[in-house]
Amino acid sequence: MQKSKNIKLSLNLDNRSYPILIEPGSINGEALRHLVMQSGSGNCVIITDHHLYEIYADWLKTLKVIVVKAGESSKDMSVYESVLERMVKFGISRTGAIIAFGGGVIGDLAGFVAATYMRGIDFYQIPTSLLAMVDSSIGGKVAINLSGGKNLVGTFYQPKAVLIDPTLLNTLDKRQWANGMGEVLKYAIGFNSAFFEEISKYTLTDIMNDHEILLSIITTCCKIKIELVEKDEKDMGIRNLLNFGHTVGHAIEAHYNYEKYLHGEAIAIGIAIKAKIAFEYGQIDGNELKQILDAIRQYELPVSLNERIIKDEAQHLLSYIIQDKKRQVEAIEWITIKKIGEVESKLEKNESIIEKISKELLRI
Ligand code: NAD
Repeated sequence: MQKSKNIKLSLNLDNRSYPILIEPGSINGEALRHLVMQSGSGNCVIITDHHLYEIYADWLKTLKVIVVKAGESSKDMSVYESVLERMVKFGISRTGAIIAFGGGVIGDLAGFVAATYMRGIDFYQIPTSLLAMVDSSIGGKVAINLSGGKNLVGTFYQPKAVLIDPTLLNTLDKRQWANGMGEVLKYAIGFNSAFFEEISKYTLTDIMNDHEILLSIITTCCKIKIELVEKDEKDMGIRNLLNFGHTVGHAIEAHYNYEKYLHGEAIAIGIAIKAKIAFEYGQIDGNELKQILDAIRQYELPVSLNERIIKDEAQHLLSYIIQDKKRQVEAIEWITIKKIGEVESKLEKNESIIEKISKELLRI
């Protein structure tokens, strides 16, 4: 278990390299004001959502802030456009900067604004949700959604720094902690068996209450992500393994209009379905399947849809898999579990995958 309080990591990508600082207690009103003054020659705006603005109003109210509605619906073309318009009204110039202060939605939206506003300005990530601290704030994938699916408009645009203060999670509700654990389980089940063993010992309540465990989890996830992004920044090969559980997860989110299941919940179901299929095809044994499903449940995440669905609904849900941006022409890059701690990528025919997932969705 990692004991050090402040952890300095870095993501090395030539002239786009940046620090990832994990420092409990580092973010407060004064620190934000200081960052604003130093960034973009003081020509800097904070983008956040209305939940966070309510909670952290004392820190934010004297700064230039753009507030959007909380939730996935803000990763949307009309919100994107309105943020750009507000940037112009604030007089943010080409030398300006953006600070994304929020969860993955804010990071993805603000990053895409930063990438495109005046052909690109600096941006900083201050993740405030567990999901954003362990995953979305790192690696430079920024995007918004279209009605046809998630993240269909976006680019790769690295931040100047990622500043992680785990004490910001004190105000996060329990469902959102579990949501973040969906991505943590992805790293553990897909990439590191020792990490899986470690987190299998804990419950959601342990993670929420023990700062040492939390710090260790955040650090391990950041290191796994850094390694994959450094090897494959543009997601042409090995980084794609991080989409483990996401093809099914994104389809679930889109089918339910981004309302019923949070991202991490949908990913947990996606991982569980992958594990069940891996068991059925003899890639993992019954004991491994049980360990995976137990770990997901332990973190209060679902292993199947909460409700029974009929065949037509399953077909509609599966249509999003075909529309997903990761689709090849007739085959899907399908990430399967080889064993706990290791995933592999296979190209498989669309019909074959659809049939396997459909069986699992209808089995509940
Ligand atoms: P989110 O940004 O909607 O945050 C979840 C909720 O928690 C929101 O209501 C928010 O207001 C609230 N919240 C956040 N921090 C809080 C705090 N400290 N205290 C109280 N409330 C707080 O969603 P998310 O789960 O953080 O992120 C999900 C998004 O991230 C999805 O759009 C997903 O596609 C994206 N994502 C992106 C990447 C990437 O690499 N870019 C990776 C994974 C996920």
